[in-house]
Amino acid sequence: MLLRYIARMITHVSPRLLYKAARLWVGGGLRAMRAYRQRLARNELFPPFLFLALTDACNLRCRGCWIESHGRPNQLSWEEIQTVIESGRKHSVNFFALLGGEPFLYPNLWRLIEGYPDCYFQIITNGLFFTPEVVGRLRRAGNVSPLVSIDGWRDANDQRRGEGVFDRAVAGLKELKRGRLLFGAATTVTSRNIDEVLDARYVDFFVDQGAAYLWYYGYRPVGAEPAPHLALDAQGMREFRRRLIALRKRSPIILIDTYWDAEGKAVCPAAAGLGFHIGPQGSIEPCPPLSLACETVRDSQGDLFAAINQSAMLRDFQEFCRSHTRGCVILEQPRRLAEFFARHRAGDFSGRDVIAELSASEPRPSHDLGEQAIPEESRIYRFLKRQLFFGMGGYG
Ligand code: SF4
Repeated sequence: MLLRYIARMITHVSPRLLYKAARLWVGGGLRAMRAYRQRLARNELFPPFLFLALTDACNLRCRGCWIESHGRPNQLSWEEIQTVIESGRKHSVNFFALLGGEPFLYPNLWRLIEGYPDCYFQIITNGLFFTPEVVGRLRRAGNVSPLVSIDGWRDANDQRRGEGVFDRAVAGLKELKRGRLLFGAATTVTSRNIDEVLDARYVDFFVDQGAAYLWYYGYRPVGAEPAPHLALDAQGMREFRRRLIALRKRSPIILIDTYWDAEGKAVCPAAAGLGFHIGPQGSIEPCPPLSLACETVRDSQGDLFAAINQSAMLRDFQEFCRSHTRGCVILEQPRRLAEFFARHRAGDFSGRDVIAELSASEPRPSHDLGEQAIPEESRIYRFLKRQLFFGMGGYG
C-alpha cells in the first residue's frame, strides 16, 4: 500500500511541490508539534495549527452549513491576517487551514499565499474555482494543498450542495490533477451516505482523480437547519471507525480522521488544544462549528499568543470537554455546552443564536466508542497517529 502510494505521488505530483510539502507541511508540522509540547510543559496555551475562516461569503448554500452571510460579507482584514500569521510564526506555527465561506472569494487570498512563502496553507474549498490560470498560480506558489469538499456520489452530494455541484467539483479535481498539485478531498459522513462514502469504490474514485488524501468528517447537526437525522447514531459511529480501518489497509491514499488515536480512543482536537478557529470577524473560537468567543485577534494589542494564552474561556473549554467526554461535547452535551458559553458570556459571531440552538439540541452519541474502541491495524497509521496525539495535554 505504502509503495503504491509513493509511486502514485511521484508520478502525479510535481517534484517541486512534493519537496515544498515535505519541508513546510511535514517538517514544519513536526517543529510545530515539538514547540507545542514544550509550551504544554510550561502550561502555555497556543496551538500548533490554526484554522482561519477568511470570509463568510459563499457561492453555494449547502444544507447543514453553519456559516451565514447576510448582505455584506464579514471578512478578516489584511491587518488581522498579518497579526495571526506573524504571531503564529513567532511560535513555530506555519500551517494554516483556510476556510470560509469560500476562501476563493476572499480578496486578499493571493496576497496571503504569495506573501508568506515560508508558510503552508490548506484551502478548504467547494472546488468550483479551479480554472487553468488559478491552478497555474497555485502551482507557482507551491505552498498550498487544496482540499475539495464532496459529500458522496452525484445524487447525495447535489442534494446537500446543490444541483450540478458534483460535476463541477470533479472538473476542479481534474484540473488540479492536470496541474500536478498535491490535493485532497473532504467528505462529511452522514447517516444517509455512510454506505456509499466508506466504500472501496468511492475511495478508488479519488485515487483515480489523483487525490493524495481523503479527509472524513462526521456530520454535526449545527446551524440554522441542523437536520439531526443526518448525524450518525452509536452503531453508525462504530461502523465509521470499522470501515475506515479496513479501507486504510487496502487503499493507496491517505485516509484522514481527527477523531480517534492509534488505540482507537476518541480525541477532540479542540480539547487537546491542537487548533483554534479564527472566525471572519476575528473571533477566536474553540473549533469551527462553534462561533462563540470571548476574545478577538484585535485584543492584547494584536498579540495573538497573549489573547489565546490568557483566555479563561479557551482554557476552561478544554477542562469542560475533558470532564464530560473524550468525544464531541457538541453532540453529547449540547445543553451543558450552552450553559458553559452563557457562563463565560461568550459573544455570538454566527449571526444566529448558537446558545439557543445548543440548548434546543438533543444529546446524541459521538465518536467516543468507550469499551468498544477499535485500534488502528495499519502500522503506518499507528505511527502517524502517535506522532500527532501522543502526549497531548488533554489525553497524556
Ligand atoms: S468539540 Fe466536537 S467538533 Fe469541535 S473539535 Fe471537538 S470533536 Fe471536533
